[in-house]
Amino acid sequence: MPGKCPLCGKGELRHKKISEEMFGVSLGKFDGEVCSECGESFLSSDSMDALEARAKELGLWGLASKVKIVKSGNSLVVRIPAALARYLKVKSGQEVTVSPDREKRLVLELA
Ligand SMILES: [Zn+2]
Repeated sequence: MPGKCPLCGKGELRHKKISEEMFGVSLGKFDGEVCSECGESFLSSDSMDALEARAKELGLWGLASKVKIVKSGNSLVVRIPAALARYLKVKSGQEVTVSPDREKRLVLELA
């Protein structure tokens, strides 16, 4: 007996293999349920564990983190955590292009 979607309350949840990605890198397909109405997908807790394990394997886990902006002269400085710098192979002194993307997003593009 399929369950109702907890998000829209209308659709029925159907079992499906769901492709997941993190930071644009494919993590593979995981067991989950997809709503027939709104299309929202829900992973089982086993799948969540498997996804986490795969993300850790690929060195993606924990790359998103909160950092504080600090003042330096008239500019503001954002620190890039060591793990993220290693992952992206960013070095001190390297040039990046910084630009806004939508209202609350900042993009750093590596050359
Ligand atoms: Zn739904």
